[in-house]
Amino acid sequence: MPESLTLIQVALPVPLYRRFDYLASQPLPPVGCRVLVPFGRQQLVGIVVAHPAESELALSKLKPVSRQLDASALFPPALWKLLLWAADYYHHPLGEVLHHALPVLLRQGEAAERKPIACWQLSDHATHDVIATLKRAPRQQQAIQLLQDGPLPAAELREQGVDTPVLKQLAAKELIKPFDLHLQAREWLDHLLLHENDAPYLNTEQAAVLAAINHADDKRPFLLEGVTGSGKTEIYLQLIKAMLAQGKQVLVLVPEIGLTPQLLRRFRRRFHAPILTLHSGMNDRERLDTWLACKAGEAAILIGTRSAIFTPFKTLGLIVVDEEHDSSFKQQEGFRYHGRDLAIMRAQREQIPIVLGSATPSLESLHNALQGRYHHLQMTQRAGGAQAAQQHLLDVKHLPLQAGMAPQLLQLMDEQLAAGNQVMLFLNRRGYAPALLCHDCGWVAACPHCDAFYTWHQQDRRLHCHHCDDMRPVPHQCPECNSRNLVSSGVGTEQLAQFLEQRFPAYKTIRIDRDNTRRKGELEAHLNAIRHQEYQILLGTQMLAKGHHFPHVTLVGILDVDGALFASDFRATERLAQLYVQVAGRAGRASKSGMVVLQSHHPEHALLQDLLNNGYHHFARTCLQERQVLALPPFTYQAVLRADAPAREPLELFMQQAAQICHHYGAPDLQLLGPLSPVMERRAGRYRMLLMLQCPHRMHLQHYLQQLLPAIDNLPIHHSLRWHLDVDPLEV
Ligand code: ADP
Ligand code: ZN
Ligand code: ZN
Repeated sequence: MPESLTLIQVALPVPLYRRFDYLASQPLPPVGCRVLVPFGRQQLVGIVVAHPAESELALSKLKPVSRQLDASALFPPALWKLLLWAADYYHHPLGEVLHHALPVLLRQGEAAERKPIACWQLSDHATHDVIATLKRAPRQQQAIQLLQDGPLPAAELREQGVDTPVLKQLAAKELIKPFDLHLQAREWLDHLLLHENDAPYLNTEQAAVLAAINHADDKRPFLLEGVTGSGKTEIYLQLIKAMLAQGKQVLVLVPEIGLTPQLLRRFRRRFHAPILTLHSGMNDRERLDTWLACKAGEAAILIGTRSAIFTPFKTLGLIVVDEEHDSSFKQQEGFRYHGRDLAIMRAQREQIPIVLGSATPSLESLHNALQGRYHHLQMTQRAGGAQAAQQHLLDVKHLPLQAGMAPQLLQLMDEQLAAGNQVMLFLNRRGYAPALLCHDCGWVAACPHCDAFYTWHQQDRRLHCHHCDDMRPVPHQCPECNSRNLVSSGVGTEQLAQFLEQRFPAYKTIRIDRDNTRRKGELEAHLNAIRHQEYQILLGTQMLAKGHHFPHVTLVGILDVDGALFASDFRATERLAQLYVQVAGRAGRASKSGMVVLQSHHPEHALLQDLLNNGYHHFARTCLQERQVLALPPFTYQAVLRADAPAREPLELFMQQAAQICHHYGAPDLQLLGPLSPVMERRAGRYRMLLMLQCPHRMHLQHYLQQLLPAIDNLPIHHSLRWHLDVDPLEV
């Protein structure tokens, strides 16, 4: 080894738990920097994680790094520590965790240098008179409306459904102009105008909550449990204002950006400071620039989805997690982290406050609050003065249902539509029908790759497996008996929409599900049309429930409650209750109360009764008691080992060996379930099995996993087999 070369340890983006030693010359690349290193026949971007004194390998075997990519660490210390902790806690290879935390361009070795952010703003020509001429161009009008609150990054306009051609048309009319935003570090502080006049006076509940947060004398997280419309967002805005005034940055995590345009507008109206967003609709360059702008302290507020938790900040002062119960905070593949949980750990490491807000807190957070681990703040009154919705539990047993709808519900629709109101219906099954079957012999069209039936999509004339995405044309006759008598079984959104169009020909129906919101901006365009009352009947899956406020909706129907009541997933009732409360909270407005109708064959179901009679708050506590009796989370901690393979034999062998390792370890408070097959044993052509590890103490479970995993990792496995560990799984 040449004398000038010294050891460094590098984490590489490979699915291996070990780290790799390389040689580098003095001065050594600091910990947290990227280096390009030879790995086999490739060159990989790795991150320096240590400067060890010695290596297990002979130094003569080690290779020198090819290139140092950064002069200093990419992650500030608190974030760096969080990532190391996360790799340990989720038992995921550090190289993959660090890689995941970086914007794609940095993973690819791009320089961590920022380009100006492409933005648009209104020009002086955009007067009221000129804007009025755009009536026939709704997209252009929408763009102007968005820009009336101030300039916006091109990426965000795209996310709101305004694409480049629309912007070009407006630019050609000289109504808007592009400019490059060169943010200067914390320049915003100098002309930070807070639009105070927009802020309402806080009501008593809000004032009490704000005071409690401001005067808390410990660092526990705050759980803000406030009914929809109680003014939680207003609390966030007030807290953020105080942070900005101190020159500190704020991170706001939301479940989905595309679904929160109203929230963004409110933030922009309130603060004259750079507000950036981070979401899936951005290209790699935009993501990197946003990341760097936050790191340099140039952005005041970042609003983003779960991965925004990995953004570095210069002076982070506060984290807000809105709709903290939302399961989209959990990453369901690769590095399976929970964005809310990481946010809590990050706030702890940064020594800053964190507020979790929801009308329907997750049972995990509620449990923490009831145990005193979080501050528990509650708001029970609607701030804007809207009345709470009435609720009806409709027993549909023996009723003649049409497309799954009871006559009473149809009649209520008649009344509300005639009165000029909108009606919203929920059905969590997209497609025409969940199955296609032969009326003569009973054959059902099943996916050959999964233990599941095909969904029938009539509009596209195809069968679609929602589990593996396999598609094929609808057969003309039964492959078993050649009968042409093929019929649908069950009702999906497509069929319901068809029925509603026939039943209510005088009104326009719109369907909102994943099938007709695939294209960028499509969803936002639909939502706008709904707000402008172009449609009277809104029908959709859960998607329609998230975050939207439609003031003209006075009747909401939830059509299939029973599925959730009897699901094998113990979290299904919690989710149903959350959906119900979210929806109920949005029906009606100040002048008119709304009505929510739940259709069920089991109206006597205890949880349903509790939810309706006593509200979410009470329901959640009942649920918690039930979970305690059954020793389920949050009273116990879980990790699930999942594996899959194209054939059963190697899978069963691996799972048995893994289970043996766990049994052999035999900790008294470690409970094992399985190995067992999930309800859908085969998916996308692969057999699946799982082993559930459960323990009443989080630290113990962590300790056991630390002991067990290396042994499991060492098992000889068939090349076709894949396995992973999911800590705190949301699904089994
Ligand atoms: P949440 O986030 O809990 O759903 P919001 O903060 O969005 O509630 O408030 C609901 C509505 O009430 C909004 O239209 C908001 O502008 C209004 N609002 C909030 N706080 C007040 C207040 N103190 N006085 C008057 N209106 C308020
Ligand atoms: Zn048949
Ligand atoms: Zn399939």
